[in-house]
Amino acid sequence: MKYEEWSKISRIASKKSLWILHFCTGCGAIEMPPVMTSRFDMERFGMAPMATPRQADVLLITGYLTVKTLKRVIQVYEQMQDPKYVVAFGSCPINGGMYWDSYNTINQLDKYLPVDLYLAGCMPRPEGIINAMMELMEMIEKGEARGWEKYRKNYEKYKKNQEMAFKFGKVEE
Ligand code: SF4
Repeated sequence: MKYEEWSKISRIASKKSLWILHFCTGCGAIEMPPVMTSRFDMERFGMAPMATPRQADVLLITGYLTVKTLKRVIQVYEQMQDPKYVVAFGSCPINGGMYWDSYNTINQLDKYLPVDLYLAGCMPRPEGIINAMMELMEMIEKGEARGWEKYRKNYEKYKKNQEMAFKFGKVEE
């Protein structure tokens, strides 16, 4: 079934049962345990951690990404089923953060994978994470989180950038 054919009720159900795979690449990952446990309790919003890509809806990239890790992140993303959503968590995957001139980290995740939501901060606090996830839910309900479609449509462009990063370290900014 095409995404446009989803009924409103399907979208609401979908947004209220998000399974999250957090790929803990950097220091921001340390803010996830309080979000997942009793202090902030993300399950009250229908979000639950998921250990495998094939069952996950949301891929959280929680920090800087080396080229070597980028390869694994892409493999994980491609194993997830549509519709799927990517959150760039913290400054590093958004603009390179404090590692912007590192020889071995990429500066913009969205050159290699479609990012649905940018969550700024170094590192974002649990309240910010919950807030961002609520925003993602709204986007899902409105049909605005369509990165997975963008990836399919622009696959050649993403592949070219990925290959350049694997070969030369990172795509020129
Ligand atoms: S944004 Fe800050 S907290 Fe997150 S990975 Fe980069 S340096 Fe670490």
